[in-house]
Amino acid sequence: MNCAAIEKNLRANLSFYAKLYHKAPIFLQNAIITARGWVLSRLRYQKLFWKTLAEIKTHDFYSAKELRQYQNTMLQDLIRFAYAQTVYYREVLENLNLGPHDIRDLDDLNKLPILTRDQVKRNTQKLQTQNDKRRITVHTSGSCGSGLAVSYNSADLVKNWAFLYRQLSWAGVQPREWRLTLYGSKIVPESQQEPPFWRYNLCERQILLSIFHLSEKTKNHYIRFLLLHRGAILEGFASILAIMAEYILEQGLTIPMKMVYSTGEPMTKTNRKKVQEAFGCTLYDCYGMTEWVGLIQECERGEKHVMVDYGILEIIDDENKPCARGQEGYLVWTGLQHLDMPLIRYRIGDKGMWCAKDHCECGRNYPLVHTTITRDSDNIKTPDGRIYSPRVINQFLKNKQSFNYCQFIQDRADSLIVRIVPGIGDVQGETQMLLHDLDHLLQGALTIRTCVAERPIMRGEGKYPFILNHADNHRPNPPKVCQV
Ligand SMILES: [Zn+2]
Repeated sequence: MNCAAIEKNLRANLSFYAKLYHKAPIFLQNAIITARGWVLSRLRYQKLFWKTLAEIKTHDFYSAKELRQYQNTMLQDLIRFAYAQTVYYREVLENLNLGPHDIRDLDDLNKLPILTRDQVKRNTQKLQTQNDKRRITVHTSGSCGSGLAVSYNSADLVKNWAFLYRQLSWAGVQPREWRLTLYGSKIVPESQQEPPFWRYNLCERQILLSIFHLSEKTKNHYIRFLLLHRGAILEGFASILAIMAEYILEQGLTIPMKMVYSTGEPMTKTNRKKVQEAFGCTLYDCYGMTEWVGLIQECERGEKHVMVDYGILEIIDDENKPCARGQEGYLVWTGLQHLDMPLIRYRIGDKGMWCAKDHCECGRNYPLVHTTITRDSDNIKTPDGRIYSPRVINQFLKNKQSFNYCQFIQDRADSLIVRIVPGIGDVQGETQMLLHDLDHLLQGALTIRTCVAERPIMRGEGKYPFILNHADNHRPNPPKVCQV
């Protein structure tokens, strides 16, 4: 059995393996995580990784014209590939009386229709290429709390890792340098009350810290652990890094790190300030998505560059017309590197605008963009001092495909409302699964109720908050919870 097959088997039977893992003693859990790290490492650091990385690093020195030529060539290849290998794009092109040769450059892209998230949901199999039986399927909940299945082949996985790694190389990070990770892996049993709240992946020199155990009660354990590992690379979801930073600053400390890498959520100005102050280093933010169609990465000058060799970005208005610089619109992506499930002109739901400025002091010619997105959210807080960021709660929605939207409203200190805008599928069954997971996480600290609504609650200028915490924020006019 090769590593891709092991990884596929593991993901397909995750709940079974998770049960075994959580029953194991800690030393065995560390061994299991290291073994998983070995599999991932074998998948990631193939010859193709080093070849791709060497090639894309040269793009840092391309002129704007050379980058555009590269995009045109990659686009032609993508269209030919999608036409030949997917049922979906063969039908789309044929229905429009077009052939692959009709899409020659970026200006021809608008001959093709916009692809919505809902269309991807309904056409997953038709969008997948027909020749890869070893594909790995994952789920994303996006920014609206509605699940979507996405698949990759092993080359997609390697190339994606190379693109993520290129940004780390801007900060002088070498492959397999020690890193501390604050993502959503459930590596510590929820019932565990005492440290260690971390596990070791020795193969990748990575220490995974549980984001589910971070609270007022445990914060000092985390701070002591970070102090022991100062100077390492710290990576995590933006909201979790911000919570950690707050705890550190409260105690008047700074824990210097080599660099901080944030992703998975927008990093607000306030949170950025806290994180940079608490960890005394440059923060490199990355905007990506599970669909692997686009990438916006921050350089050492703090500017956000669109990685045009990873995906083509269009920013369009309500009438699908291109937006001028400084005008906010919808982000529409065409992924150039994700070939198991090609997505062309995919409107992901996030918004942004081209920056007025067209040049960055770092010297790279990838265009500059400002994301005005995305996940506007509070945190959930329990009366006993636990704090749950949107990314913690989000984990439970990845496989819930029947919700169009799902929001969480903490209306009182001890009460939570799950507000669901239903879509197609087993809404009742998936709601029960979600309630079970939440109950397991919160351990009775909050009373949970559900309500069904026609549309999500909107806050401010068209933002749909994932969590609304009225108990914490004392907002003057909390919106009506259910507008059925
Ligand atoms: Zn730059």
